[in-house]
Amino acid sequence: MTLSHDHWAQPQRDPDDDTPRLECGVFGIFDVAEASGITALGLHALQHRGQEACGIACFDGQRFHTERHMGYVGDAFGGGDLNKRLPGHHAIGHTRYSTAGGSFLRNVQPMFADLEAGGIALAHNGNLTNFLALREQLVAEGSIFQSTSDSEAILHLIARSRRAKFLDRFTEALQQIEGGYALVALTNKKLVGVRDPLGIRPLVLGDLSGKSVLASETCALDLVGATFVRDVEHGEMVVIDETGVRSFKPFPAQRARPCIFEYVYFARPDSVVNGRSVYNVRKRMGRRLAQESPADIDVVVPVPDSGVPAALGFAQEAGVPFEMGIIRNHYVGRTFIQPTQGERELGVRMKLSPNRAVLAGKRVLLVDDSIVRGTNSVRVVRMVREAGAKEVHLRSASPPIMWPDYYGIDMPDRDKLLAANHSVDEIARILGVDSMGYLSIDGLYWAMDAVRDPVNPQYTDHYFTGEYPTRLLDREIAEGRNELVERQLSFLVDA
Ligand code: AMP
Repeated sequence: MTLSHDHWAQPQRDPDDDTPRLECGVFGIFDVAEASGITALGLHALQHRGQEACGIACFDGQRFHTERHMGYVGDAFGGGDLNKRLPGHHAIGHTRYSTAGGSFLRNVQPMFADLEAGGIALAHNGNLTNFLALREQLVAEGSIFQSTSDSEAILHLIARSRRAKFLDRFTEALQQIEGGYALVALTNKKLVGVRDPLGIRPLVLGDLSGKSVLASETCALDLVGATFVRDVEHGEMVVIDETGVRSFKPFPAQRARPCIFEYVYFARPDSVVNGRSVYNVRKRMGRRLAQESPADIDVVVPVPDSGVPAALGFAQEAGVPFEMGIIRNHYVGRTFIQPTQGERELGVRMKLSPNRAVLAGKRVLLVDDSIVRGTNSVRVVRMVREAGAKEVHLRSASPPIMWPDYYGIDMPDRDKLLAANHSVDEIARILGVDSMGYLSIDGLYWAMDAVRDPVNPQYTDHYFTGEYPTRLLDREIAEGRNELVERQLSFLVDA
C-alpha cells in the first residue's frame, strides 16, 4: 500500500492552536560517571528547543537502557534514582517538539535499534526533506517502520547497508538523506555527532574534565560545567571513543549555510551559535530596527521573552526608556491552553499580563522577535490598548516571514503566514496598530556583521526570501501527486 504523503507529512493539529512549537535539542556524553544525570541537565538547558517530550539512552558497558517520556525534562528525569534507572558512562538525550511525525510516544527519541553489528541509539534535531521518498523505497524493500518519525529512516538505512564497519554503514546512510539535521548516535563503543552538509542545524563539541560532550547549543555546555571546544562543522562527522575525537567529512565540500532563524527566535540568548552570541545579534537587530523604522514614542516594551534583547537594542539606539510593560507568567503549562476560542483567549491572558503602571497614557512601541500568523500580536496589541496606552506601534525584529520551513522549524503553510498574504499597511490594520515596521533583510545580515551575498548567501534565509538551500524532494513529489490527483479529478468532472 502506498501511504498518503499528507498523512505522514505533518502531525494532525488544530489550525488555530498557538501553543509554542519548537524544534528539537540533542545532547551526548562519553566516558563519564553518571552520564544520564549529566544528560538530563543538558536536556534541561535545551528545553526551549522542544517541550513536548524527551528521552535518554545510555550504555552501561553491557546493555543499553532507554527511557522516553511525554512532557518536560525536569518531570521525566528529575528523580534522584536516575543514574540507577539509566546507568552507565555513555549517554545521549533528546528533547523534542514533533516537526515530523505525530506526537506519540513511539515517535519520541532517542530511537534504539538492535542491529546485526550491535545496538545503536539515535537522536535527531532537524527534518529530512526526502524522508517520504526514502520511506516508500524502504517499505517497498521490506522495512517495517515502528514510528512516523523521519529519524527512523536513518536507522533502517544503517541496518540495510552491506558495508562491514559501523562507521561505513552510518556514512552510507548519511549519503542518502537530505535536509537539515544534527545527529547524535551512541553505540557500545562510540559516540558520533553529525551536522548536515550545509550546517543548517547547530551542533557543538564541548569538554568536561577531558571528556567529550556534544550539544545543540552552548547553553547546555554551560549548565553541565563543560567548556566550549568548537562547533561541529557543516558536513562533519565527529567520532568519539576511547582513543579520543576523530573528524570525518563524508560529503562533497559545500559552503556552509546555517539557519538564520536560530538567531531570530530559536536559540537561547546566552548561546553562542556558529561563533556569534545570540544575545548580541538580537540586540543589534533591535538597534538596526530603530534606525530603519523609528517612531515618536514614550516607551519601548518587549513582547516577552523572545522580544527582550531586540527591544533593549531598539531602546538604546532610539534613546527611549525600555520598560517591562508586559509581564510573563512562567508557570503556565501546556495543559492550560484549551481548544475553544474563549478558553484560548484566557490562555493568552494567563501567560501575558499588561503592566498598567508602564502603559497607561503612553505612546508604546512593542518589539517582538518575529510575527508568524499574527495571532499573538493581535491579542497583545489589544491587551496593551485596554491597559490605557495612547498609541501602540509594533516592530518585528525579523523581516516579514513569507515562506515555510522544511528543515526542522515549525512554521505554518504559506496561506497562514501573515506577511505572505498582506502588505505592511494591511498588517497594521489587521493587528490594530498605529504603525508597523519590519527589520529589512540587509538589516538582519548587518546584525550578523555580514553583507548578504546575493549569489551565495552566507545563511539560509528562506523564511524571508523563499530561496531554499536544498532541493525539496518530498514537497516536489507531494505537489506532483496533487497535480496528478487534480488531473484525474478534472478528467472525472469532464467525463
Ligand atoms: P504568531 O502568533 O503565529 O504570529 O506567533 C508569533 C510569536 O511566536 C512570536 O512572538 C515568536 O516569538 C514566536 N515564534 C516564532 N516562530 C515560532 C515557531 N516556529 N514556533 C513557535 N513560536 C514561534
